[in-house]
Amino acid sequence: MGRKCFISFKTEDIGYKEFIQNDLDVDMIDKSLDDPINSDNEDYIMRKIREDYLSDSTVTIFLIGPYSNENLGAYEQRFLKRELQASLYHGNGNTQNGILGVVLPEMYDSIYSGSGTCWSCGKTHTYVNLNDSTVIKEFSYNYYIPNGKCSWPEEDRFCVLVRWDDFIRTPENYIEEAFKKRSQDIANKTKVRP
Ligand SMILES: [Zn+2]
Repeated sequence: MGRKCFISFKTEDIGYKEFIQNDLDVDMIDKSLDDPINSDNEDYIMRKIREDYLSDSTVTIFLIGPYSNENLGAYEQRFLKRELQASLYHGNGNTQNGILGVVLPEMYDSIYSGSGTCWSCGKTHTYVNLNDSTVIKEFSYNYYIPNGKCSWPEEDRFCVLVRWDDFIRTPENYIEEAFKKRSQDIANKTKVRP
């Protein structure tokens, strides 16, 4: 029995969500936020989304496609952002979800742009472009959690990232990796609304 997952995705990427649902052995909640939940009480909004949508999921799979970036604007991304915020939210009676970002093939070139020598430590770093033009801030911040170093070793990242092609081969491995982050030290450094 795998971890229960919630999938956060843009409508344009629904084909990938359906593939996960129908062709992979992933235990998932088939819901998407479709109501802005108007309230001045942020805690209420987070609790409500957790109760009505994320329910007992422990991992949120975020599909990273051409339409899931910050630059498209807060209104356009209102549901995506709320889904990730509620996923990161520690509340009464719930711990946050692990976050697994799955890079869809259309985004490989913009996210994985090679590697280069670091001006600071002289070693080679792989470039993983997670910024406002590729993802929403809720993901990029909690992937590159500020650490004062020139790079981000595994233990300094809360979000887990995987290419679509690797994900569909062994989804349970990556889901488990994201699940485990919830009990690691880095879980104390996440931000719900970066
Ligand atoms: Zn370096």
